[in-house]
Amino acid sequence: MPTPWEDSIRNRKVKQLTIFVVPTLSKPWRRAFDDALKTFNQLSKVHKLGVTMAAPADAKKPDPDGEDGADVQFDMGKGDITFTALGQDFLIKSFSGTAMHGKTEAVQRHFGSQPDRIRRAFVFVPETPMITALMRVGRDKFNNVQREAGHGIKHFIAAHELIHVCGLDNSDHTKYGPDADLFIEQPQPLAGPFDKPDEDKLVLHNPPRPKPNVMSPPIFLKKATADKIRDIWK
Ligand SMILES: [Zn+2]
Repeated sequence: MPTPWEDSIRNRKVKQLTIFVVPTLSKPWRRAFDDALKTFNQLSKVHKLGVTMAAPADAKKPDPDGEDGADVQFDMGKGDITFTALGQDFLIKSFSGTAMHGKTEAVQRHFGSQPDRIRRAFVFVPETPMITALMRVGRDKFNNVQREAGHGIKHFIAAHELIHVCGLDNSDHTKYGPDADLFIEQPQPLAGPFDKPDEDKLVLHNPPRPKPNVMSPPIFLKKATADKIRDIWK
């Protein structure tokens, strides 16, 4: 179920979440994040989501104990990941550094009998998402070999996590099939040639022939996902 951010944030004059991108993020992930941010803001405009995001160069790391700093932190990771927010320590156990999806921890709190609201979000993307691609090893001979997934897939993974940042959780995912969009639960990787990672895609729907597979990127949102975001940001 979607969870709104705290009113102090939702009632900002400019409804914008600021993101602190850790300086240690790898170059490929920085590029993917930058594209994902543009994609998110474009989708926000098209679907009138009511929230945009920004990652200014002077954004400060979220204060581990207090309210200062950016609303969101974007990082990559693998294994056991720890962070501190609102004076509380968090642990994400055994995070896969090679999977096709990231993890967004929405840090929530409540006042008195009020319901839980999000105050911070910590995004982790897998350090090196891996995909199995066909490598030519001889004349008409190919082997399945693992390699790092290309930019398109990283762009998708990062943009997907920004939807979680809005306040949507795993139960809000769309399913593989005709209703799938960026917020799909489990897309199927489709590798480009071994030496062309930028042709890697994710399959969202595999309709009966002769209809073509629905693949991403390009990245799009369906009405159900857009409605959920708009609902908690109006
Ligand atoms: Zn997800």
